[in-house]
Amino acid sequence: MGARPPVGPSEYLSADAAGQRPRCYSRVCLLKGCDRSFQPFHPLQRYCSQPCQEAARQWRRWHAARRYRATPQGQQQRQAQSRRYRERQRVCQATATAEAVGTAAAEEREGQRYEDFSGDFSARPCQRPGCYELFVPQPHEPPQRFCCSACRRALRRVLDREARWRRRHRLIRAGRFRPPPRC
Ligand SMILES: [Zn+2]
Ligand SMILES: [Zn+2]
Repeated sequence: MGARPPVGPSEYLSADAAGQRPRCYSRVCLLKGCDRSFQPFHPLQRYCSQPCQEAARQWRRWHAARRYRATPQGQQQRQAQSRRYRERQRVCQATATAEAVGTAAAEEREGQRYEDFSGDFSARPCQRPGCYELFVPQPHEPPQRFCCSACRRALRRVLDREARWRRRHRLIRAGRFRPPPRC
């Protein structure tokens, strides 16, 4: 009979021996496409870095504009913009002589802009910060808010965590909760 092999997760033992404690309190950046792990400075921190925070701010602007476009007021405004744009183009074409160079490119751009003005209002933007996917919501309860289940889970995880933190924070302030010691 030979010696019995060691039992148990030897990696844990070696980590202990080296004096390394498991990194707790780390989380994953919420921004779509980043997914980096980081250790937050604040319990409500959602993004790993300044660039991700800035990217999320830009996304929020895009998202708000996109949502506004889907409202009746937004649609009216887009239609008026589209009308004014076409009007301007007619005036320009009547007064200016077309230049051969760049005309094809300009027409192409015009096509895209027109597309944009008359865009599909039924498409909705995904709610996950950093996600620029649009989807046409299927009739279902609760209403669809994400382009895919990965985006839904990513935001759900953050909202649940923040709700837990707020609840705990309220109890602590009321003197009714003592949090378990963290690492
Ligand atoms: Zn990030
Ligand atoms: Zn998404």
